[in-house]
Amino acid sequence: MVRAMEYGNYREKNRTRCIRCAECCRRNSPALHQEDLPLITQKNLGRSTLILYRRGEPAMDNVMGTPVLLAGEMIKIKSADTGHRGCLFLDLRSGHCSIYGSRPMECSILECWNTAPLMNYYQENRLTRADIFPRGSAMDELIRMHEEQCPVTELSSMLQQEINTPGTLREEINSLLAFDDSFRQGFQKKTGAHEEDMFFYFGRPLKDLVRPLMDFMKLNPDSGT
Ligand code: SF4
Repeated sequence: MVRAMEYGNYREKNRTRCIRCAECCRRNSPALHQEDLPLITQKNLGRSTLILYRRGEPAMDNVMGTPVLLAGEMIKIKSADTGHRGCLFLDLRSGHCSIYGSRPMECSILECWNTAPLMNYYQENRLTRADIFPRGSAMDELIRMHEEQCPVTELSSMLQQEINTPGTLREEINSLLAFDDSFRQGFQKKTGAHEEDMFFYFGRPLKDLVRPLMDFMKLNPDSGT
């Protein structure tokens, strides 16, 4: 079997065009950038297909290939639920992208044999909820309220303290997780929002971030969370 590194070297030396092997789509899904906004407004990408990673969350960096703590929010296409960890829109049987004509900018500029264009673009102009929901709209107000009351960074600080001195902040952590839960339930009840759209509006529930954050902190004790 050809090892991953050998294959990577082979690819960089010998490829000059996309042969639609779908290797990149199988590994991860793209983050959205300002240029991708029309894909949302024109409904090529439904809200249920997207996931928000909030500031302070650990997320896979597609260029570095390792998890990093996000300095700002990032909206991505969801990963496939089954079969592989890659993009929701990859049809595993055919190896084709089911939205190829409307694929996000990261997919359009990725050249697996030359990653420089993607590296230069990757951190630039990430799409955020502020680009989608007009300032002062009801949704904008709710997003701000949720960010103020349930920031990921606050959960991280509390968890860090719990790691350092176990038992000190357990109640505060539980009450933050409960508040986040009730905020989401209240939103769904009032607006009738679909369950699968909630990851786009408010990201993953805080209770689902406890394990990934703890794992990240343990693996990266100098991460400054
Ligand atoms: S949107 Fe299409 S091209 Fe982009 S990662 Fe997903 S399957 Fe691949």
